[in-house]
Amino acid sequence: MQVLNGFVLRRPASIAEAAALLADPGARALAGGTDLLANLRHGLDRPATLVDLTGLAGLDKLDWADTGVAIGAIVTVARLARDPRVIAELPALAQAARSIAGPGHRSAATVGGNLCLDTRCVYYNQSEAWRRSNGYCLKREGDVCHVAPQGTRCHAAYSGDLAPVLLALDAQAEIASPAGGRRSPLGELYRDDGAQHLTLGRGEFVIAVHVPAPAPGVRMAYRKSRPRGAIDFPLAGVAVALAASDGRIESLRVALSGTNTHPRLLEGTGELAGQAIDNALFARLGKLVQKQVSPMRTTVTPANYRRQVASALAQRLVKELAGVS
Ligand SMILES: Cc1cc2nc3c(=O)[nH]c(=O)nc-3n(C[C@H](O)[C@H](O)[C@H](O)COP(=O)(O)OP(=O)(O)OC[C@H]3O[C@@H](n4cnc5c(N)ncnc54)[C@H](O)[C@@H]3O)c2cc1C
Ligand code: SF4
Repeated sequence: MQVLNGFVLRRPASIAEAAALLADPGARALAGGTDLLANLRHGLDRPATLVDLTGLAGLDKLDWADTGVAIGAIVTVARLARDPRVIAELPALAQAARSIAGPGHRSAATVGGNLCLDTRCVYYNQSEAWRRSNGYCLKREGDVCHVAPQGTRCHAAYSGDLAPVLLALDAQAEIASPAGGRRSPLGELYRDDGAQHLTLGRGEFVIAVHVPAPAPGVRMAYRKSRPRGAIDFPLAGVAVALAASDGRIESLRVALSGTNTHPRLLEGTGELAGQAIDNALFARLGKLVQKQVSPMRTTVTPANYRRQVASALAQRLVKELAGVS
């Protein structure tokens, strides 16, 4: 890794000041820095200003209500993983948080940073010298995608672990902007483009995520496949929220990470309501996943392996949550 380029560090005292600072095209949001600083040391960006969000009052709260919880953007991943109420009421979120990076990273890493994590690719997350010797690539400084050389877009994968759980929970993102703020379904934070996967405009940043309380009877889990069990991004990460009774699906939501340029809520699971939880259901669910994920050659692991693993994890989690052996 190279030495960091020079930058000005700003510590805004309010959300409005942070939004005004971030409206400058040369400014980037800094939270725990566990993703951003590594990327800067790879020369993947050269911002003139870093805007440290971690001192902003009110963004470090877990605000519980009967209807759900509002999680501030600078709540750390470590806190999410160990919070007794998160563990009791949103166990899949605690599972996902526990699976992120290593303990040192988790103590600094934030929820907002995790949701806004840059996309990853084996041709991109490399040193400046490595990328230069390879002619760079479409995502930054080059004009060819080494993964799909005939194409005109980047397929780098979104690999955050919290987003699939939050999508399965139907969470909303609260976004601050120089014009005020807005709240929208979490899925709308993302677009299908590995080079520009966030829909945030200039000056906008995530201040909270609002998670509705799961409906009675809903059980949830998160599981990921990764190259190294101790510490690694998901090759495929799957969150499942299932309500079932008398051996039949009442409701099912499945969301995935690591397989597409954005975290993806599986479409078509609503049509599985009423279906018996049997091998025919698992086959149908497996096909849905395989059709909708689009892993590319962005990791050292073959794309088809990630497709199969995503499908198998979704089936396995439904089996476990339904208590089917
Ligand atoms: C060795 C290693 C292993 C890792 N393993 C995993 C893993 O298994 N799973 C995983 O999900 N992540 C992993 N990570 C990535 C990272 O540690 C986490 O995703 C972490 O949660 C990022 O949060 P942060 O606060 O450190 O973000 P930062 O690094 O501060 O920021 C990340 C990005 O988000 C932007 N940003 C930060 N906060 C906001 C906000 N509130 N609004 C808008 N934009 C914002 C920043 O500008 C930057 O582009 C790993 C990192 C390393 C170095
Ligand atoms: S998918 Fe292509 S354009 Fe995107 S980072 Fe990888 S090589 Fe670069």
